[in-house]
Amino acid sequence: LAGAAADFDFFFHVQQVTVDPIIVTLYPPVACIITQRVRWLVASVQWPGSYCDTRADRCCYPGNQKPAADFTIHGLWPNYADCRRGLLTPDAATRCWPDYCNATDPLNTSLIKDLESDLLRNWGTLSCRNRNATAFWSHQWRRHGTCSGMDQHAYFRAALDFKARFNLTRILADAGVAPSRNETYLLSSIEDAVTKATGSAPSVECNRNGRDEMELYQVFQCVGRDGRSPVHCPRRLESRCTDKVKFPAF
Ligand code: 5GP
Ligand code: 5GP
Repeated sequence: LAGAAADFDFFFHVQQVTVDPIIVTLYPPVACIITQRVRWLVASVQWPGSYCDTRADRCCYPGNQKPAADFTIHGLWPNYADCRRGLLTPDAATRCWPDYCNATDPLNTSLIKDLESDLLRNWGTLSCRNRNATAFWSHQWRRHGTCSGMDQHAYFRAALDFKARFNLTRILADAGVAPSRNETYLLSSIEDAVTKATGSAPSVECNRNGRDEMELYQVFQCVGRDGRSPVHCPRRLESRCTDKVKFPAF
């Protein structure tokens, strides 16, 4: 166990049971109370122009009012120190990050009332299936927030503060990467601009629009456990980008 602890940095925690199956086999009594420690978080934001021109069901504007041409928050996602996927552990969700850590702590909107207008502006939903932003926040809190070690107010505050501190739309504009119908950008120029502004390399996720063009869809930044300071990403995150991408106007 000492070797395994050094390797995976386990700690004692009774709410979750997310363990290496080898440990389960060898140390069943211990395994049930051990899990890996959350070490960093992913601050993820989405570009509304890409969300809206990719979905089969398009997108729906909150209150039927077109939001600002600005990234919006998707989530703040706790992650384990490192993860190795293998034959025994193929599922990223059970190996790389915890989720749904506390079913007895659902979102209580009265605890984040003072953040509501900020959340509506910066963490709105563009989904047509569920047009209720509270349901989006509630899902993010239950799935990710409950594993963050923060309380509800601190969790949402951290996500809002991080987005405000590193204004991606402005960072990209300052680097000459402006939303455009026709322009195509080097992925490396986007990554370089964010790295220069935050001190930490982002991961960029792309998708394809209706014309089968590759577009910048989400930007992931790795953040320390306090939810504040950018950190070096311990592993590469989802990409699916080619070296040239569109950044569509919205
Ligand atoms: P996708 O399969 O679209 O990449 O991710 C689906 C969902 O899985 C995300 O919306 C998010 O909730 C979760 N997810 C994806 N990547 C990560 C990650 O690196 N860390 C955590 N904690 N969750 C992730
Ligand atoms: P995750 O993949 O992080 O677990 O959460 C995505 C869920 O939130 C999906 O059920 C999705 O329909 C819902 N959702 C609601 N609004 C949005 C939005 O604006 N963007 C994304 N990516 N998901 C949204």
